[in-house]
Amino acid sequence: MNCPRCQAALTKKYYKGMMEVEYCPLCRGMWLDFHELDRLEDVVFDQDHYKGSLIHREAPVLFVCPACESQLLEFQYRLYDLKLEVCPQKHGFWLEAGEDEHVLSLMRRRAGEIRRKTEAESEWKKMLKGLHTFFSQEM
Ligand SMILES: [Zn+2]
Ligand SMILES: [Zn+2]
Repeated sequence: MNCPRCQAALTKKYYKGMMEVEYCPLCRGMWLDFHELDRLEDVVFDQDHYKGSLIHREAPVLFVCPACESQLLEFQYRLYDLKLEVCPQKHGFWLEAGEDEHVLSLMRRRAGEIRRKTEAESEWKKMLKGLHTFFSQEM
């Protein structure tokens, strides 16, 4: 497979000790198989139902999928300020240099938000329970 951006031959790279990805030695971009983006996110946040939907506002770009040569679609990643490319045939995702770390930091932030939200909810429930006990004792 060749890099969609600079056409250099992609080489296999063992990524973070968890999966093999196709990596461009020239522009340091990275091709992830379709399920591998999810595995990357799961490094820091594995609660899929809290992640929100993945693909927003797709638009075709000029470079093509290294697997099938379909035109890749650029999309807004989970409504964050990050654009990634996806193959319309679901072969995978293209991440430019550094975008993998960007995904990880966004997921880390999301995990923190959810944790705070869950804690706030359980505090609230405890308080309601406390009130309930208080009023039942009064009566
Ligand atoms: Zn490249
Ligand atoms: Zn493809």
